Amino acid sequence: QLLPRDLRDAIRTIPDYPKPGVMFRDITTLLGDAGAFRRAVDELVHPYAGGKADKVAGIEARGFILGGAVAHQLSAGFVPIRKKGKLPHKTVRVSYLLEYGEDEIEMHADALVKGERVILVDDLIATGGTALAAVKLLRQIGAEVIAACFVIDLPELRGADKLRDAGLEVRTLMSFE
Ligand code: 5GP
Repeated sequence: QLLPRDLRDAIRTIPDYPKPGVMFRDITTLLGDAGAFRRAVDELVHPYAGGKADKVAGIEARGFILGGAVAHQLSAGFVPIRKKGKLPHKTVRVSYLLEYGEDEIEMHADALVKGERVILVDDLIATGGTALAAVKLLRQIGAEVIAACFVIDLPELRGADKLRDAGLEVRTLMSFE
């Protein structure tokens, strides 16, 4: 059965990780709690039940865990979006800016066909840089991104606003200041 308490209690906060001044929101405690994990997945997907999505795209690495569960729940396919160099077949790639420097993410070029409806899933949205890059990749190959779903939003960093400005429906389950 689902646990009656607030899902927020299932998130663990680690101060000064991975560097001083950062409050890291750790979802492994939520994943390890059967009731909280199920509830988080159910709440993320319920607006999209009934065949609204063809595929779920998850961002490496925590987005794979949530996205896989979401895809199963929606009877949709799953598409991994990975850091560069990890996928074996022909890929499409975009680079995006980090706080310091640049990074690249990739997806198999044949992972989606034009017009397929996709939901993007990750554990957390902060500045939105990662998710915006993922949306760019998906749109580049003609997918229709119907929503972006995250367990946690850090609203001060305005990532969800940026996604909404890019025309996306954004769904988050909780926020931390
Ligand atoms: P953004 O690109 O929106 O600035 O950062 C979001 C990405 O960084 C996500 O892939 C997310 O997994 C990771 N991330 C950044 N901060 C945190 C955090 O406090 N907790 C977790 N679990 N992931 C984080």
